[in-house]
Amino acid sequence: ATAARQSLKIGLIPADGIGKEVIPAARKVLEAIGSDIPKPEFVPLLAGWEVFVRSGTALPEETVEALRECDGALFGAVSSPSRRVTGYSSPIVALRKELDLYANVRPVISVAANPEEKPAVDLVVVRENTECLYVKQEQLVPTENGKEARATRLITERASRRIGKMAFEIALGRPRKQVTIIHKSNVLSVTDGLFRETIRQIPFDSNGRYDSVKLEEQIVDSAVYRLFREPQIYDVMVAPNLYGDIISDAAAALVGSLGLVPSVNAGDKFVMGEPVHGSAPDIEGKGIANPIAAIRSAALMLRHLGYTAPADRIDRAVDQVIREGQVLTPDLGGKSSTNDVLDAVLKKL
Ligand code: ATP
Ligand code: MG
Repeated sequence: ATAARQSLKIGLIPADGIGKEVIPAARKVLEAIGSDIPKPEFVPLLAGWEVFVRSGTALPEETVEALRECDGALFGAVSSPSRRVTGYSSPIVALRKELDLYANVRPVISVAANPEEKPAVDLVVVRENTECLYVKQEQLVPTENGKEARATRLITERASRRIGKMAFEIALGRPRKQVTIIHKSNVLSVTDGLFRETIRQIPFDSNGRYDSVKLEEQIVDSAVYRLFREPQIYDVMVAPNLYGDIISDAAAALVGSLGLVPSVNAGDKFVMGEPVHGSAPDIEGKGIANPIAAIRSAALMLRHLGYTAPADRIDRAVDQVIREGQVLTPDLGGKSSTNDVLDAVLKKL
């Protein structure tokens, strides 16, 4: 990504629940960055359950069209109905398809008590987001001995190569520059074998670009074990869709509240920041949602657009607020509000 833009147009899709509380906070932080980025122009857009109830569609066509004109976007959260509702499907899944956001990138970072110390956890999960078992090709087949259920698992060279490249690019921007391929090719030698071999080939085709990146690999089950025992061994983990889904949630559990963990959905032409948490109906409207995941998602979006320095500034401001521990929302054991935390971050900025 390059940062040579005249303007920065950012779609804002708060969607449902606490999305409507944390996305405005992230917007204020982007507005406060100043001249390190082009003055952002924000485009408020609709999606989600509430707009579905009002209009019959969870992702209005205008939203998709407007996003195509944007450089990036921030998405809040969607409520999901407790039972299947005819005509409703997740706008996030649809947006990933429409905008070809093939990667889900989730940094998981703990904040060390002392700013000189290294954080105990500082890793990024890079999850392939378009194929694997989630192509949803399932069949129920009646047999003589009862029903049989089958699913197709799709792994392509093309998708494996582009997710692998994304992982290498992210590693280049990090001090340790290490990529770990997560797979199970000892059992699934064809599908996971292709994923693994394709990524292992990338450095050889890179004209030396990835010479500084150390490539490792790990079988998925032992990777989860080691993730919990010694998370510090990981830097960038790259995984097919299903393993990546599980590992990215497991990794988020290492740093406490869901209210802290950011993500982006990224493609080659577009990036959408999204806090990992959901719409949190239990705390909606109380003004106590932790805005940090959304604020860090805004920083991560900037990072993917090539604005590394302002992204670092936002993350450092957030780190300071967490480290001081004076202004925290209840999920982190504090008594402060969403706005108090936002103000504290703005002050540090
Ligand atoms: P959804 O169906 O939208 O995912 P959910 O009920 O699963 O809703 P989550 O948003 O996934 O809710 O949150 C799970 C728990 O974590 C809830 O108790 C919620 O209050 C809490 N939580 C999630 N995000 C935050 C946040 N930003 N600040 C504080 N607490 C949060
Ligand atoms: Mg949830």
